[in-house]
Amino acid sequence: MRQRLTARAVVVGDRAGTVVPDAVVDVEDGRIAWAGPAADAPPAGDAEVVALPGLLVPGLVNAHSHAPMVLFRGQGEGLPLDRWLREVMWPREARLTGDDVEVAMTAASAEMLRGGVTASVEMYFSPERIAAAVGATGARVVVAAPMVPLPGMPPLEEQMAAAVDLAGRADADGLVEYGLGPHAAYTVPLPLLRRAAEITREHGMLLHLHVAETATEGDGLLEAHGLSVPALLAAHDVLGGRVLAAHCVHLDDADLELWAEYDVAVAHCPASNAKLASGIAPVRAMLDRRIRVGLGTDGPASNDGLDLLADVRLAAGLARLRESAATALPAAEAFWLATGGAAEAIGRPDLGQVEAGRRADLVHVDTRDLGFEPVGDQADLLTHLVWSGASRLVRDVWVGGRQVVADGAVTTVDVDALRAEVAERAARLAR
Ligand SMILES: [Zn+2]
Repeated sequence: MRQRLTARAVVVGDRAGTVVPDAVVDVEDGRIAWAGPAADAPPAGDAEVVALPGLLVPGLVNAHSHAPMVLFRGQGEGLPLDRWLREVMWPREARLTGDDVEVAMTAASAEMLRGGVTASVEMYFSPERIAAAVGATGARVVVAAPMVPLPGMPPLEEQMAAAVDLAGRADADGLVEYGLGPHAAYTVPLPLLRRAAEITREHGMLLHLHVAETATEGDGLLEAHGLSVPALLAAHDVLGGRVLAAHCVHLDDADLELWAEYDVAVAHCPASNAKLASGIAPVRAMLDRRIRVGLGTDGPASNDGLDLLADVRLAAGLARLRESAATALPAAEAFWLATGGAAEAIGRPDLGQVEAGRRADLVHVDTRDLGFEPVGDQADLLTHLVWSGASRLVRDVWVGGRQVVADGAVTTVDVDALRAEVAERAARLAR
């Protein structure tokens, strides 16, 4: 089936911040067949034409998430990261069932779709239940099967064997893909990290881990090995291939040089880093070194939302504060970090931009709102999108050409029922 979407303008989601006024996007077999100015469009033929009054933008790509943690949203408010993990999160997670994860992921996925987020990288327990949840909502996911030494969890070797069983399983539509998610160098022993890296390279899978989230988490490793975590990972053959490192708040110049040398991508999580007072990542320095960077929400218990568009605004603000320069992260580049840049960072060049050949993951944002006036120049549409808090204006969302949000409501799952179920399960887990 062919469909033609026409829009007031298309925001491409490229680094330059291209805005195409009076635009046409043709969709066929789940992909974008043509995109550009209406004046240059090929004949519509027998395509169904849908006229959208607002902006058409790429589906946002959340580069780092533990979305089922919607069950723990708001809990442990005000605690620093180590106490928040040990006293609040890990005891609850020890009681989690696969059913909890599937219900929570379904709810979180619906929440993300409602905010224009069509794909996410998830590092969480019960990876196949996460895939099932996303199958119900119609979103897209890369599930990094977790390896983390927690009480009540199987030994790490067993966790890795279970994760490896999922290796290479992916569907033709690219809706679900599996990777490996060893938690971090300070929690997973180096030989296992090395093995995980070998396996992901062998299968072209994503290797996703946390690096330098806090200033002190690498102290023990520095003392034992005399190396920073990035240098240690390089020395143990963990880098190279499709590596995505979350946070990277506390990296020095030498670490950044290593990231550039090994083409390690970064999932930048400004809202989580701010809430847990972890610090402000050196995003400008990363981008200047051509390090791939994508934006992530992190888990909704440390954000506390899944509103990636809000985090675009925060990323721009924090980068400017860090560098004391309003030029440190322009709106266009900040939006790219959640779209085209994020797709590059997670190794999915089929996502993230409104461009012929890419998947038809598209978001319609209503611009008939006071927050979108005035528009002197077409570029103002992108600036307003970033600075005016536009996620509430998301009206329609398509994933692979399939509509999953219509007129502001998720159409694939029962959101009210999910709300009740999340409340009930969260209450049980908190006891
Ligand atoms: Zn995380």
